[in-house]
Amino acid sequence: MLSFWEKDVFLKKYDVIIIGAGFSGLWLAYFLKKYQPKLEIAILESGTLPTGASTKNAGFSCFGSPTELLENIEVMGIDQAMFWAEKRYKGISMIAQYFGSEIEYDDCGGTELFNDKVVFEETKEQLEALNHSIKSITGKDNHFFIDENIIQNAGFSGFQHAIKNTVEGSIHSGKLISSMTETLQAMKVTIFNGVKVQRFDNEVNSVKIYAENGLIFEANHLSITTNAFTKQLLPEVDLYPGRGQVLITEPIEGLNWRGTFHFDKGYYYFRNYRNRVLFGGGRNLDFKTENTDEFALTSLVQNRLEQLLYENIIPKYSNIKIDQRWSGIMAFDDTKTPVSKCLNQRISLSVRMNGMGVALAPTLSENLAKEILKTIDD
Ligand SMILES: Cc1cc2nc3c(=O)[nH]c(=O)nc-3n(C[C@H](O)[C@H](O)[C@H](O)COP(=O)(O)OP(=O)(O)OC[C@H]3O[C@@H](n4cnc5c(N)ncnc54)[C@H](O)[C@@H]3O)c2cc1C
Repeated sequence: MLSFWEKDVFLKKYDVIIIGAGFSGLWLAYFLKKYQPKLEIAILESGTLPTGASTKNAGFSCFGSPTELLENIEVMGIDQAMFWAEKRYKGISMIAQYFGSEIEYDDCGGTELFNDKVVFEETKEQLEALNHSIKSITGKDNHFFIDENIIQNAGFSGFQHAIKNTVEGSIHSGKLISSMTETLQAMKVTIFNGVKVQRFDNEVNSVKIYAENGLIFEANHLSITTNAFTKQLLPEVDLYPGRGQVLITEPIEGLNWRGTFHFDKGYYYFRNYRNRVLFGGGRNLDFKTENTDEFALTSLVQNRLEQLLYENIIPKYSNIKIDQRWSGIMAFDDTKTPVSKCLNQRISLSVRMNGMGVALAPTLSENLAKEILKTIDD
């Protein structure tokens, strides 16, 4: 039973309500407010903290490793692959520009490591053409270059080859969420945590949004940024969830390398965070089990992560303990492309980030904000 005051302030009719307070939802609110400061905006988030991928990832701002980009070219063709690479490149620049100083943004560069000679030779053969295509995005001549010193210098084992790039960076994902939340609060966006939306009704003059706790919200426009959990609200959206498992070691004295690293077509990724190794991946060991929206750890993936950690990443250190383990849920589809658009004048969505939402959310959300504003103006 709500009071007059509560209805007047919190349950008023909003211009835009966004469901989901991950990066997609927060960037969307940010750009809507930036372009139209008078808009009344609320974000409804089911978790006490955002509970999907944004606070659970490994804190990479990923442009894409050579093998990932070559796979993208195979799946979607060169034009589309470069279209999405450009969105990621711009997204990473936007993160650095808007929040870089507050989120431990480090433009440390990225390295793809190879433990398979054939895959490396195939990638090397295509590197010149790949660099040529990428120059139109980054303006740089040799975006990817072979630099194998890191393998020996860092003491990695089991990798014979390495291709570096200077674009990728790392962030503190928790601090990015926190900085964005503070910025939005200063912009007078209302964020409700602990509000799980069950369904919505597209009515003639507004959208009614029904929460599990019985509250009913109303807005002129509803945007759904629930990524892996979208089917609960929009069953027709083509996507499947994918779990990412991560571990972090205790601090390791003398860990002398920095940067972000990938191997096995991006299925494994690690970095140095304050002298700890943060290491994740292994979804490809058992896609069937990992295509789930359940937050959990499995012994298959965790054991493999540990084995690779001790044998390949920190073989020269002994008795290093794992400090924490966790999982996050991403959203994928077979086209490897997000869906970000207005479905009609009242409903829009920006979901299915295909494991690249840190980098993609800023540009996708900015474009969607412009599209939404057009429908509101009409
Ligand atoms: C281990 C791991 C590693 C990753 N590595 C990278 C990387 O290297 N580079 C990169 O770019 N990306 C990476 N990602 C992916 C990236 O984190 C995601 O693509 C991005 O965070 C997605 O943001 P989002 O806002 O779209 O979705 P989410 O962060 O999942 O946010 C969706 C939000 O909606 C809320 N929600 C869902 N349903 C409801 C409901 N019914 N009512 C109310 N709220 C609801 C959820 O609680 C959640 O907070 C990684 C992810 C993981 C898990």
